[in-house]
Amino acid sequence: MRILVVEDEKKIADFIKRGLKEEGYAVDSAYDGEQGLFLVKTNVYDLVLLDLMLPKLDGQSLFKEMRKMKISFPVIMLTAKDATKDKVAGLDLGADDYMTKPFAFEELLARIRAVLRKKEGRDSKTIKIEDLVMDLSAHKVTRAGKEIPLTSKEYSLLEYMMRNSGTVVTRTMISEHVWDINFDTFTNVIDVYINYLRNKIDAGHAKKLIHTVRGRGYVIKVDKV
Ligand code: CA
Repeated sequence: MRILVVEDEKKIADFIKRGLKEEGYAVDSAYDGEQGLFLVKTNVYDLVLLDLMLPKLDGQSLFKEMRKMKISFPVIMLTAKDATKDKVAGLDLGADDYMTKPFAFEELLARIRAVLRKKEGRDSKTIKIEDLVMDLSAHKVTRAGKEIPLTSKEYSLLEYMMRNSGTVVTRTMISEHVWDINFDTFTNVIDVYINYLRNKIDAGHAKKLIHTVRGRGYVIKVDKV
């Protein structure tokens, strides 16, 4: 899952970015409204964290501009002001959620997960494919009941594939949702990570779940025998 953080207070922006990366999210950041608008126009995000008080273009204007252009990424607004008026204004505009700074990072994570679940119309906190289970809250993956240790990038890639199980995901789609803006399209890093996952998820199991679709990409699914 790829997140854009639009926040001009660099300390807060860096704190959020570091925390999200540790959780396995791909994160881009913008430090003013214009840069934020440019990034939402030119990239694909699963979620945008949008501060309201921003230089050059304020958060509400950025949000309105985004929606006017039919860019429908979910948005959680961040603001230092805790006035009910601002909260109501933000939600009236159609923001998915709202957080008042300062906030506990754990709460931000919980809200992000909730918004992503809502977006997918998924209520469950786990994703299951055959005997492979991902617990989205605990960040744990098990196969046949046995926990599989994953790095945050491996987890993130597997999460993206499991959320799209049964659908072929191309390398471009993977790079857009799992890597950040610094992704180098000329490397084979995605294939390398797919191999890491295969070794951890499928090796030693008769039923393979990760499949290559030649010329297109990858899919995670149960093969009908
Ligand atoms: Ca600000």
